[in-house]
Amino acid sequence: MDFQSDLSPYLHFGQLSPLDIIEEVKDAEDGYALRALVTQRKKLTGTEVNLADFLEELIVRRELGMNFCYYNDDYDSFACLPTWAKATLLNHLQDPRERQYSLSDLENAATDDPYWNAAQKQMMNTGKMHNYMRMYWGKRVLAWFENVEEAYEVLVYLNNKYSLDGRDANSYAGVAWCFGKHDRPWAERDIYGMVRYMNANGLKRKFDMKVYLQKVESGDVR
Ligand SMILES: Cc1cc2nc3c(=O)[nH]c(=O)nc-3n(C[C@H](O)[C@H](O)[C@H](O)COP(=O)(O)OP(=O)(O)OC[C@H]3O[C@@H](n4cnc5c(N)ncnc54)[C@H](O)[C@@H]3O)c2cc1C
Repeated sequence: MDFQSDLSPYLHFGQLSPLDIIEEVKDAEDGYALRALVTQRKKLTGTEVNLADFLEELIVRRELGMNFCYYNDDYDSFACLPTWAKATLLNHLQDPRERQYSLSDLENAATDDPYWNAAQKQMMNTGKMHNYMRMYWGKRVLAWFENVEEAYEVLVYLNNKYSLDGRDANSYAGVAWCFGKHDRPWAERDIYGMVRYMNANGLKRKFDMKVYLQKVESGDVR
């Protein structure tokens, strides 16, 4: 889980520019340390080491977030979502929720989902959460509120309050993604409608979640 650059807070506060990072990465000699970091982070998914993926995220995904906020006046609310996503989520408002939590439950990391609680604790303790956990973290909250617009507000609030890189264009694009933005419709299911669903089995396939839980509990996680 430790294999990512952790550059986002520096990018957010303007201490580093994407251009500087790209120049560093391109320069094989001077950029050695960063190149090694980029290489390592791919071990996370078990896929082939690929510098291009890092650059795609740093340039394309980041610019997509900027573009989204610049051109969308509703960038921080449910209203920003594409029509299909809003419609499908609203169609499933009556679906029974397996659990419902208050904002206070979430801020106390007191849900019945140990992975969600660990991700929330990681964010509160370190100001950072792993990218993949961020996706899972957001998707779960969607299902815990009867009012999907409230779920949206709660996610923006938590992300911006506790993340060092919060209040960024990427923050709003990231939350919006959990609700279907920059994605396509998937097979229809309860609560999520056609919005992409994520569950704990996906986490367990990708990561050693036992180790992640231990690391968060012991404070040994960045
Ligand atoms: C619910 C949710 C909330 C998010 N909130 C934020 C936030 O508050 N601030 C923030 O900067 N990012 C946010 N993201 C996007 C992404 O998770 C982070 O950019 C990434 O985890 C930052 O860690 P890193 O610098 O170690 O990333 P690395 O994987 O090392 O990537 C390097 C850089 O590429 C860019 N990047 C990587 N992934 C993405 C992505 N999915 N979208 C846009 N740019 C990306 C970032 O600028 C990042 O610093 C969020 C994603 C989700 C799903």
